[in-house]
Amino acid sequence: MVQPLFLNSVLHEKLWGGNHLKTFGYNLPSDKIGEYWAISAHTNGVSIVRNGEFAGQKLDDLYQNHRELFGNSKKDVFPLLTKILDANDWLSVQVHPDDTYGLANEGELGKTECWYIISAEPGAEIIYGHNAQNKDELRAMIDTGDWEHLLTKVQVQAGDFFYVPSGTMHAIGKGILILETQQSSDTTYRVYDFDRKDDQGNLRELHIDKSVDVLNFGAPANTTPIVTQTDTLTRTSYVSNDFFTVEKWEISGPVTFTKTAPYTLASVLNGEGILSVDGTDYPVQKGDHFILTSNIETWTFEGDLMLIASHAGE
Ligand code: ZN
Repeated sequence: MVQPLFLNSVLHEKLWGGNHLKTFGYNLPSDKIGEYWAISAHTNGVSIVRNGEFAGQKLDDLYQNHRELFGNSKKDVFPLLTKILDANDWLSVQVHPDDTYGLANEGELGKTECWYIISAEPGAEIIYGHNAQNKDELRAMIDTGDWEHLLTKVQVQAGDFFYVPSGTMHAIGKGILILETQQSSDTTYRVYDFDRKDDQGNLRELHIDKSVDVLNFGAPANTTPIVTQTDTLTRTSYVSNDFFTVEKWEISGPVTFTKTAPYTLASVLNGEGILSVDGTDYPVQKGDHFILTSNIETWTFEGDLMLIASHAGE
């Protein structure tokens, strides 16, 4: 039977987390929830299929045993990870390695990521890049804690998009909700953590040497969105490269899609409606995440919906 895979996924408590993810309908076990790993086959938090013939199966097992659902991809691991983050406080200032450095030093792929800003308090900021000109200057500014001059802050608002390739200095700021699409990796090098202590009074570990190894120089190059419009669909393409393609679908009324990739990940960020696949209707609403597998050639949405959709690069 041809069915989308709806997923139940894992919440992660974080020092900087909050309780805003309840607005997506998730049951929060605490007021410090930082991340929902909405579509994940990563061992640190695997999604589970909640419907149909594969109900109860873990996404990583399904990817290993039913590769035909994923276009018979040659990639060893499910390549993408979709998260929703609630930054109730600043995340650490960090950088991720590229695949070569990640595999050599951590035994896992690097991480290129990107952010769709779901909401932001007035004046909310991110860190996106740094001002050091070379490794010596970078090292000196880190050693003296000259964060004010080193880090580039950017004000953000709902609907903004940021492409964050591996090697980019970055941090998500207080008061921001983000949908993140990233390579399926959990390798983070922390540069600065605002000298915060956890419940046990410990500072979190920093990784200065590795950070200096992998940080890029020069301002990060964000992508330029491309918008196409019909009566019932506004489609915004944010990025399309070897890692991933990420789009926003703003739907009002019936829209039929024909697949443009072997399989597609989708996250409903607003509204409600009906997804129709192969003659079956599935109600969808804010907070739902699903995969349109390779055997689904076309699908139709009805209702008022806003989704972020993505697929892996070849
Ligand atoms: Zn990151």
